[in-house]
Amino acid sequence: IRSVDDEIDGDNINVVVRVRPLNGREVKSDDTNITQFPGDGGIWVEEKTGDKLRPFTFNVVFEPEASQADVLEHSGIKRLIEMAVDGFSTTCFCYGQTGSGKTHTLTGPPHLFQSKRTDPLHVDHGLVFRSFIYLYEQLKQKSNDSSYVIKASYLEIYNEKVIDLLNTGAKKSNLNVRWDKKSRAFVVDNLFSIECEELDDLVAVLEEGLKNRAIGKHNMNEHSSRSHTILTVHIHSEEKATSEDNKGVYITRHGKINFVDLAGSEMTKKTKSEGKTLEEANNINKSLMVLGYCIAQLSSQKRNDRGVHIPYRDSKLTKLLADSLAGNGVTLMIACVSPAKSNCSETMNTLRYAARAK
Ligand code: ADP
Ligand code: MG
Repeated sequence: IRSVDDEIDGDNINVVVRVRPLNGREVKSDDTNITQFPGDGGIWVEEKTGDKLRPFTFNVVFEPEASQADVLEHSGIKRLIEMAVDGFSTTCFCYGQTGSGKTHTLTGPPHLFQSKRTDPLHVDHGLVFRSFIYLYEQLKQKSNDSSYVIKASYLEIYNEKVIDLLNTGAKKSNLNVRWDKKSRAFVVDNLFSIECEELDDLVAVLEEGLKNRAIGKHNMNEHSSRSHTILTVHIHSEEKATSEDNKGVYITRHGKINFVDLAGSEMTKKTKSEGKTLEEANNINKSLMVLGYCIAQLSSQKRNDRGVHIPYRDSKLTKLLADSLAGNGVTLMIACVSPAKSNCSETMNTLRYAARAK
């Protein structure tokens, strides 16, 4: 039995990059594209006009033309879902500056869910919706040997407070995060968890959470640039052993997948550059800073092949993601960047960060 603190295997973070298209405003203002794609997971960035291009290499780079369906097929998310079905703890998070395409990649544009009936075939559907479809396909395929119970929860971390996005009554409260011995993971006390028998139930959870996140926010963009959301799908399974010797034996498993829409990555630097005290900075975005530190520690552990301290316990976000970052877990980081010259320094920061994590 391993706890999150004594994990030794840091080889479980996969990194892909997605570059969004130049937007209308950028095109209008003659902003230029500073990214080039030589193929084979490469991305080259022109930091200064006329200078040599900065090369980066990743397993997968999605160019601006890549579709939402391409991201489902080539990001490795399908493998993550298969692992979650098999009992592993997994996480997919989007990292990047505000406006780089994190929410677009995960959930697509908000209008998709604003009409009465969600069109399941819309090309703009994000990774979450597409993953839900793939998940239920997997469960159906395996339904002869196993039975499954799916439960979902959806929370937001804002200013180190955990808010339930499925229980508006608890909205102003600050839910407690604690270590749970039985599941060997951190859990949130009193968090709503909705059983989802079929795809529509899970989609309803997504819609409800998106709606509640937006309600009452004067400035949604400002709010979402400072907060993190975690949509978690828990998969409990019971498999009947098939061999003669084990007749009547049931194997139970509990896997999960977290979909995480992070605060804008510019937030951590803002706190430093504005010369705030550590405590003030912590209040702006402690979770994002600690996540960066944990990932740096994990990759240094991987490079040096020895145990180092990973400070999961230092923020709410890292507590909740600890079991997928550590040990037997698997994490997919989607680094989202803008191709525009005006965003060059943030794009470079995100690519450096992503290169360090892989
Ligand atoms: P973030 O969540 O990182 O702040 P958004 O996902 O809200 O950024 O994206 C900012 C804007 O760019 C949105 O209007 C979004 O629709 C658009 N956008 C982002 N990525 C893409 C993409 N790959 N293709 C088309 N539009 C995109
Ligand atoms: Mg967003």
